[in-house]
Amino acid sequence: MIGKYHSQITTEALSSSFNNSAINYIEQGNLDSDKLRSKIPNITDGYNLSAQHFNKTTLQNCDEFLEKAQSVVIDDFIQAAKADDKDADEYYEQAFYDLGRLVHNIQDFYSHTNFVNLNQDEIWNEDIENPNVDNKKQLKTGEYSYFSQFLDKINPFYKWFIEKNYEDMYEGTSAISHYGLNKDEPNTIADRIYKEKFGTSAFDLAEDFATAHTKEKWEEINSILREELTAAEYSNLCRDIASFDLDSEDYYENLQTLRANFNEDIKEA
Ligand SMILES: [Zn+2]
Repeated sequence: MIGKYHSQITTEALSSSFNNSAINYIEQGNLDSDKLRSKIPNITDGYNLSAQHFNKTTLQNCDEFLEKAQSVVIDDFIQAAKADDKDADEYYEQAFYDLGRLVHNIQDFYSHTNFVNLNQDEIWNEDIENPNVDNKKQLKTGEYSYFSQFLDKINPFYKWFIEKNYEDMYEGTSAISHYGLNKDEPNTIADRIYKEKFGTSAFDLAEDFATAHTKEKWEEINSILREELTAAEYSNLCRDIASFDLDSEDYYENLQTLRANFNEDIKEA
């Protein structure tokens, strides 16, 4: 998805659980995933960069990133809840930033795979080996060579071709380019074809699923934290989350540290 929609989805999914200051960190962490698409020494080394977008790599790599990012976020909140008051802000900053990186991955799943072409009724079960589609071999991300992107863009018959082969391209095992598959914004080729076929927007569905899944992800993490922490620690956590108050300037001041910490933690996860 493009940044504007990542922001909208994140705010809609999480604003009943977090205040604006926390949302700002989560949102910035989310948008940072797209800024880190190319390698920056010490910041992006050690993990597959494409895996955080369900793109340009295997679904298994993406799924592995998702699991690691989730364990990093849970550890962050546990550390934050156990920290002395004077240090707690730093831990919360990191936790919110990392949560943003995690939910970016979830949101991109719906725009960069053909999941909504295969299941229009429920969100993804997060099991790549046994996904909730008819046949796991159907689930795929777009092919992403610059040459194919170029060919797709200049070929006036491309939309006609994939539309005509809808079942193979969108539901079957034939490869399809990212350009033809993505629901990154309204009116992509995939969105137009879907609308003509089903009368509804694939982008809207991807956005709805991404919102529901983002919300559910926080609920899941929250309930893990409730179990892992003592009652006193958990109540500190709730209090600190509700009263978190750092403005956006701090975010940019500490951005390099937040990125580097996330990277280190992912490598260790
Ligand atoms: Zn992305």
